[in-house]
Amino acid sequence: MTLDLVIRQARLHDGATPVDIGIKDGRIAGLAQGLVTDAPQLTAGGGLVIRGFADSHLHLDKACLLDRARNPAGTLTGALEAVSAAKRDFTAADIHARGARVLDKAIGQGTTLIRTQVEIDPVIGLAGFDAVRRLRRDYAWALDLQICVFPQDGLLNHPGTEELLRAALAQGADLLGGCPYTDTDPVGHIARVFAMARDFDVDLDFHLDFDLDPGWRHLDEVARQTIAHNMQGRVAVGHVTKLSMLPPGRLADSVALMRDADIALTVLPATDLFIAGRDHDHAVPRGVAPAHVFHAAGVCCTVATNNVLNPFTPYGDCSLPRMANLFANVAQLGQPADLDRCFAMISDDPFRLLGHAGDIAVGAPADLVLLPCESRAATVAAIGRPLWGMRSGRLTFDAPAPRLLAPPAPSRTSAS
Ligand SMILES: [Zn+2]
Repeated sequence: MTLDLVIRQARLHDGATPVDIGIKDGRIAGLAQGLVTDAPQLTAGGGLVIRGFADSHLHLDKACLLDRARNPAGTLTGALEAVSAAKRDFTAADIHARGARVLDKAIGQGTTLIRTQVEIDPVIGLAGFDAVRRLRRDYAWALDLQICVFPQDGLLNHPGTEELLRAALAQGADLLGGCPYTDTDPVGHIARVFAMARDFDVDLDFHLDFDLDPGWRHLDEVARQTIAHNMQGRVAVGHVTKLSMLPPGRLADSVALMRDADIALTVLPATDLFIAGRDHDHAVPRGVAPAHVFHAAGVCCTVATNNVLNPFTPYGDCSLPRMANLFANVAQLGQPADLDRCFAMISDDPFRLLGHAGDIAVGAPADLVLLPCESRAATVAAIGRPLWGMRSGRLTFDAPAPRLLAPPAPSRTSAS
């Protein structure tokens, strides 16, 4: 077989017998045991080979800000104010440099698809959008970047914001976000966002219900508008931390609501855990939506990074297996089937949400990532760090497992 490269002993599914992957002209040309070829080879050693991970919610424009913006109280208000103040000094070059640091990390963690949320308002204008568009071009050798523009600081309370959002959508932003909790008119905000989505025929991705008061919420209005605009399957909601406070009966009603409107749920465990429950001085609630319950009922669910090293989340290495592990830990999930579900929320579901469905198959692009584990559940349990990744058959990163340097065994001395 004439190939450019062959990957030996690649396990494509849990429990599957490893196969060889033949690659020609950037695409998968063969999938079989014992491919006969004299092409150069890589060994996967029986490890799991996947398409990579997909991060459905990541803010590149406000990442890596801890040198200039802090949130000592750890509250949502503190984070919003700190970033709002720092944003006045953002430039496109500054945003590009900070975003590049995040993408460098994400690539090395096996992420191959990202939806990035970009703030648009009269303060920042289109500087963030321009910087992220440049990042999309600069990093096309390693990953796909989907751009979601949104009004983080509100829409109706900031005249001029809608015009800028429309300009970004006209210039190629992939979809639109909403953030009704920062608006003086949240229901009006939701209505305007749906109207813009209709005008530009784009999907929607909301920051929604980001507190722990179950007494009110905007989820019902978003579901109502989704159905009214016939946008089932095209709307996602992120955070929705209120869902963590619902007793089983009301939670079941919420599952039915989201399933009927075919709305996807995105959980951002690092941010939600850092911000939620700051008004409690003991027995602090976890504040992470129980996505596994929604996923089990057929709702598209994703676990994502959200923020990296900024006032919303002063942590971050861009590892999605770490984020899935964090969610599993917080949700007290330990059975293999549950851990497999957590893996789906950083792979199958976000790929589908972002419109990149597809398997490793003959004819598909050779976009592949090797994991040091034999199963998806083990990857979540042990935070398996990818060993290498490739795009169109070309390696994009290489991160060999640590090599231990044990001292030589001591020479035996006879006691007798
Ligand atoms: Zn966000």
